[in-house]
Amino acid sequence: MQNEMITHSGQCHCGAVRFEFDAAPDLVAWDCDCSICAMKRNTHCIVPEGDFRLLQGEEELSCYQFNTMTAKHLFCKRCGICPFYRPRSNPDGYAVTIYCITSPTVRSMEVKKIAGSNWEAAVAESGIRGLSKPRQQAAAAAAGAEGAAAAAGAAPA
Ligand SMILES: [Zn+2]
Repeated sequence: MQNEMITHSGQCHCGAVRFEFDAAPDLVAWDCDCSICAMKRNTHCIVPEGDFRLLQGEEELSCYQFNTMTAKHLFCKRCGICPFYRPRSNPDGYAVTIYCITSPTVRSMEVKKIAGSNWEAAVAESGIRGLSKPRQQAAAAAAGAEGAAAAAGAAPA
């Protein structure tokens, strides 16, 4: 079922930071080669803010920023792991590090390459920006488009 939603959960290495998020069991992840993702070997899923919940450890999170200062690269002060962060591509949502998902809830993972080293072009052509839109809003937009298409189809030629 394409729209089936389940709850995934995860944590940093020491367990001080714990989180969960709602998403399909079949996840899409992004393997980025921008300056920081290349060093972190960062592969992440984009989650709308409304589908993400920090369960514990907010006080353990530190934040690193650079360049445009848009992204908030969060990491655990105890163990140094970044289980999730606010990505520059989707500052209205979260990027969850796929290796920090610890629940046995992931049925499949499609990993897409994104050339963050050529940031503007890569983000524009990837479609990644739309992935952090609230689900209700995205569904309404899709329904609106279908409704408009149906109305156009029903209109006399
Ligand atoms: Zn930790």
